[in-house]
Amino acid sequence: MSICDSPAFTARATARILVSACLMGHAVRYDGSSKPLLHPALARWREEGRLVTLCPEMSAGLPVPRPPAEIENGGSGADVLAGRARVLEKAGGDVTAAFVAGAQNALQLAEENGCAFALLIDGSPSCGSGFIYDGSFSGRKQAGYGVTAALLSQAGIDVFSQTEVERLEARIAALP
Ligand code: SF4
Repeated sequence: MSICDSPAFTARATARILVSACLMGHAVRYDGSSKPLLHPALARWREEGRLVTLCPEMSAGLPVPRPPAEIENGGSGADVLAGRARVLEKAGGDVTAAFVAGAQNALQLAEENGCAFALLIDGSPSCGSGFIYDGSFSGRKQAGYGVTAALLSQAGIDVFSQTEVERLEARIAALP
């Protein structure tokens, strides 16, 4: 048996997951809070060394706290990456460049660490995957990806929200 045939080197055993830092309990959200995800799978994945943690916005130099930001005019992360929409603070400040840089940092880290999956928190203009806000700062949600989720997805990384942990578990379990 070659070393690569060893069970320790199966895709399932080595599957790694890029995870939003706020889900891991880091106080990196715009308002200085965290959103720790209390799920037994997360603790298990951490023990297995599967998790690669990043806050895309902080990686691009944005501070904590920072003004809330949304993608303008009902746009999506893909629109931002294509130059069709900006990410704006509530007072109008343009933070598009930082959000794109954060997404690029996330993709680079994911690729460096062989992450085939990402587990990201929903609603964020960076990390949202099930929904984001519509740019009106009125609390209205819409389906769509944030900038980081969109870039990771475009690169072939499977993106899951924090409400889809069981689906991610099943996906990993189905690996050879
Ligand atoms: Fe959490 Fe992502 Fe926002 Fe950072 S950019 S605070 S990881 S949702």
